[in-house]
Amino acid sequence: MSKKATSSVRKATSNVYGPNKITYTHFKKAVDIAKECRPETSGKLHPKVGAVIVKKGKIIASAYRGEVGRAEHAEYIALEKKAGGDPNVQGADLITTLEPCTVRSHDKRPCVSWIKSRNIRKVWIATLDPNPVIAGYGELQLQEDGIKIGRFPDNLADEVLHDNKEFFEWVRLKQPTISRIDQKNERLVIIDALKESINGANQLRSLLYDRFLSPLSGKKERNETKEVVGFLNDTIIKFEKALEQALAVQIDSEGSWVQLGSLLTDLKLHGIALLAYRVATEIDATSNYAWTGLTLSELELNRKDVTWPFQYSITPIDRSPFQKRSKTWLRFSEFEKPDMKVRMAARALQLGQKLDDIWPIVEKSAEEIMISEKRKEKESLQKEKMAWVEMSVMMGSLGEEEKQSFCLSIAAKNPSRPKLSGPAKMMWDLATGDLNLDESEE
Ligand SMILES: [Zn+2]
Repeated sequence: MSKKATSSVRKATSNVYGPNKITYTHFKKAVDIAKECRPETSGKLHPKVGAVIVKKGKIIASAYRGEVGRAEHAEYIALEKKAGGDPNVQGADLITTLEPCTVRSHDKRPCVSWIKSRNIRKVWIATLDPNPVIAGYGELQLQEDGIKIGRFPDNLADEVLHDNKEFFEWVRLKQPTISRIDQKNERLVIIDALKESINGANQLRSLLYDRFLSPLSGKKERNETKEVVGFLNDTIIKFEKALEQALAVQIDSEGSWVQLGSLLTDLKLHGIALLAYRVATEIDATSNYAWTGLTLSELELNRKDVTWPFQYSITPIDRSPFQKRSKTWLRFSEFEKPDMKVRMAARALQLGQKLDDIWPIVEKSAEEIMISEKRKEKESLQKEKMAWVEMSVMMGSLGEEEKQSFCLSIAAKNPSRPKLSGPAKMMWDLATGDLNLDESEE
């Protein structure tokens, strides 16, 4: 701590604030008991909050979030559960590490309302609530009701922010980065695609009716056609259900988009499924379901594509918390063949996974490939080559030359040159040194 900071802390510790004689020790107590808060439910983060009620220098009650009753708020516990019948609460100061809430789920009363009803004189706050539904409104509502507002000493406010770092980050990730209008536009894209699919299936069905269900065609032919028509009927019903769901998808509801995404995945409409999942991640970047669905649809789309993973690749730097996306790729890669494993590892690398984490997968795949080399089909051989070239390109961008040449040497073991075009060909040529840039410039 610098000299200046030390002296300002010393000054703050000796101050006595207002008629209720609030001191540094009272603020410190609120900060310290907030640290007692324990995680509540898996998959959700909660703030660590401490509250202290002080009158004329004496602590009437103190509490931390969840101390009594699951997920109960610190201010509520202190005011009602601990000092419920105490007449001294009237006119006391309330010190709380987080801005009091203005809304609570279901039948619960928000803390702002409890504070008003107990006639608290002044509320001391360390930080505003990061949730935009509450941020600033808690403070404003209290002020409008004539309750004074004060702040914690700077160093303690900083400590509260530090203790709640993960929670603040989590709340930020939960804020939509996609506008309502953009969501409506994406919904239209999905609706149009579904309508097109339904029309296509309908046309095919009537074509089959006309051509094969006429009395002129043979019995065997007619039976086979009936089967196909039956399948088309089922498909059309499923598509129509998905269309209903798409029409009803809720704007700003991550769950609603995930539900639509999974329905589209079941119908193997991976392109629009990816779109639905992507919207879901942009509404709530903490959603595991959304990230998993997105990765799965991306995988399905790329399974057939030789130029993967550059094709379809969505923004490499996204808001995925804790590299959720790249980890998902690695998790899925366990169930795949060696060439897919390498491609998925490349994708994970592209999304920010550390080279050390993916290298064991690369080495293991190389081993498996050496063993099964003779049995391979031509097409998969081609895909495999591309996978290794892609990987080597990734290595190149990381400056890992030794590992890059390892990947290239595996790719070069393939005797037949892959038939590629466009950017994939260019990448291949660059990676294997076939492309002479000087020549092409002439
Ligand atoms: Zn509250």
